[in-house]
Amino acid sequence: MSEYINVTDTFGCDVFNDSVMQERLPKKVYKELKRTIEEGADLTMEIADVVAHEMKEWAIEKGATHYTHWFQPLTGVTAEKHDAFITAPMENGKVLMSFSGKELIKGEPDASSFPSGGLRATFEARGYTTWDCTSPAFVRHDEGGCTLCIPTAFCSYTGEALDQKTPLLRSMQAINVQAVRLLRLLGNTTSKKVIPSVGAEQEYFLIDREKWQQRKDLIYTGRTLFGAMPPKGQEMDDHYFGTIRQRIARYMKEVNEECWKLGVTAKTQHNEVAPAQHELAPIYAPVNMAADQNQLMMRILKRVAHRHGMYCLLHEKPFAGLNGSGKHNNWSLTTDDGINLLDPGKHPHENVQFLLVLTCILKAVDEHADLLRESAANVGNDERLGGQEAPPAIISVFLGEQLEDVLEQLINTGTATHSIKGEILDTGVKTLPDFRKDATDRNRTSPFAFTGNKFEFRMVGSKDSISECNVVLNTIAAEVFRDTCDRLEKADDVMAEVQNIIKEYATQHQRIVFNGNGYSKEWEEEAKRRGLPNLSSMVEAIPALTTEKAVRLFESFGVFTRAELESRAEIQYEIYAKEINIEARVMIDMATKQIIPAVIRYTTVLANSINTVKAAGDIDVSVQMELLKKTSDYLHQTNVAMSKLKELVGQIQTQEEGQKRACFCREQVVPVMKALRRPVDELEMLVDKEMWPMPSYGDLVFEV
Ligand code: ADP
Ligand code: MG
Repeated sequence: MSEYINVTDTFGCDVFNDSVMQERLPKKVYKELKRTIEEGADLTMEIADVVAHEMKEWAIEKGATHYTHWFQPLTGVTAEKHDAFITAPMENGKVLMSFSGKELIKGEPDASSFPSGGLRATFEARGYTTWDCTSPAFVRHDEGGCTLCIPTAFCSYTGEALDQKTPLLRSMQAINVQAVRLLRLLGNTTSKKVIPSVGAEQEYFLIDREKWQQRKDLIYTGRTLFGAMPPKGQEMDDHYFGTIRQRIARYMKEVNEECWKLGVTAKTQHNEVAPAQHELAPIYAPVNMAADQNQLMMRILKRVAHRHGMYCLLHEKPFAGLNGSGKHNNWSLTTDDGINLLDPGKHPHENVQFLLVLTCILKAVDEHADLLRESAANVGNDERLGGQEAPPAIISVFLGEQLEDVLEQLINTGTATHSIKGEILDTGVKTLPDFRKDATDRNRTSPFAFTGNKFEFRMVGSKDSISECNVVLNTIAAEVFRDTCDRLEKADDVMAEVQNIIKEYATQHQRIVFNGNGYSKEWEEEAKRRGLPNLSSMVEAIPALTTEKAVRLFESFGVFTRAELESRAEIQYEIYAKEINIEARVMIDMATKQIIPAVIRYTTVLANSINTVKAAGDIDVSVQMELLKKTSDYLHQTNVAMSKLKELVGQIQTQEEGQKRACFCREQVVPVMKALRRPVDELEMLVDKEMWPMPSYGDLVFEV
């Protein structure tokens, strides 16, 4: 049926990866480049010229005509500007294909067209993209031909970060330095480097493209702004891990193949909780590569859907009442010689290094819970977090029975003497093998869960870059590692001090640990008693970026300057107000041009029917009358909410830009959007389906 593909041959075939470099670059150049990639050594222009030349030759063999510096500005999507390899025509009218080291290393997009949150006002508009040689270049094939894509960082003329990648690379440096320092103090003399590793599980919805085209809300905002629940939702739990339908299976096959060609390790795929919802997870990689690969994966998911007559929704909450989509960010710290600092081993209670790292992370998360929450804030996630299907907006850490028990022993007695063991799983069926269970069950409701040898941060929105949360994770962990090293370096007996610190951190930050049901109302109250922040919306979360505590943290590691943080907060407020403004305008447009006219047509049909039936004789028309009355009532409510919304939308631009405008949207506009949605959804349940002007939830999610 389907043609055979050799995965080991195709994997990475469009990537200028290590084996290609080794094969094509002169030995000396290869060595120098590796030194830059692995140790951050300076790259000379001479070396860059040779690398650029070989990269170009390789790309041309693959069919490339253009190259682009591929970067991730603060718009939330990737950006690129394409240049052909051609040079000016020679005397004979011919052109050469050329690509210099300078062109590889440095690009100059006009920074003034990208969000800079005020940095632009004080600094020049000039911006530079610089080659990130730690993430491999690749060749991309699409309708526009074939392009060599060079992953880059994007900075202003004076070096301020204007993108997601620059701070991520800075934070990787920070945690590397501090984690290696900690390892040395614990007696490790061999590891040279500590790298944050991340595997991001990507959730998405697939719907039919023709139906997508019939909904302006999906087209303009990526989510439905109106829509009544179908008679069947996800309550039967029959979609989760269910058999993948053939149309979807064909799609997934092509997605995997496209991913593999680009070196993206697409690994695990399954149906998710909601109908039409799916997930794809790669194998984890160093976080800067994981972030790039996630961007590629999202693009592939979208493009392949197009080819299959479908549309891929990456929005966090495309359908009210159905599960939203997130991106679980699995994070761990690994050394260059293969040690995972978050691996508890068989006997966690004896594993001092693990316990120290673990309690450091508890402290970091407790002290900067607001920043971690902020890193997952986007407009779509406001609809998802805390909705009984995604983690609440409160940050807490799930450790599981085994580790919680070890910590309790430490807190109570200062030492831990045993670890709870996983029991043998007995199914009661002789022919099924028995095996030892994990010592700890899973918890699906925690935003930050320890899952065996990594932490899983589950708040990130499905369409967001994973960079932001990892910048925070890396930097807050670096801070606690640094302070811990400062103490250990002063101690006479390092190992005794390590024990003290573990106990101290575990005791002082116990409040962040929560193993119960994160979806429950009781937890919200309990969290309040514990003094944990509950930042329920993006607008409330943004101020975390610019607190004195945050500025001190980021400045001390050179991850962000105060100005960069302020500019990022500014951009977030701007994005919030803009997106709400668009959503509100789309609602008004749909209500005015589609919904209200359809309802009026329906009431006319009802009224005509009443008159006709009445004229035919003395027949009871109470049903039609009641329906007409109900419909007209909801129509009236719709109109009232619409007028109010129109008025408010008119006021958005008159609000002072930034926090004020965002708050106005959150506090004034969003509630009226909800008030408009309510009667419209009621109407959808009343009006003749033939007359309803757009596909219903049922049409969208059950008929893909
Ligand atoms: P699940 O959480 O659904 O059971 P897994 O635990 O197997 O699935 O993995 C989920 C994601 O976590 C995958 O992307 C995987 O590569 C990644 N992952 C596994 N181990 C680590 C690790 N040590 N560090 C970071 N990510 C990891
Ligand atoms: Mg998982």
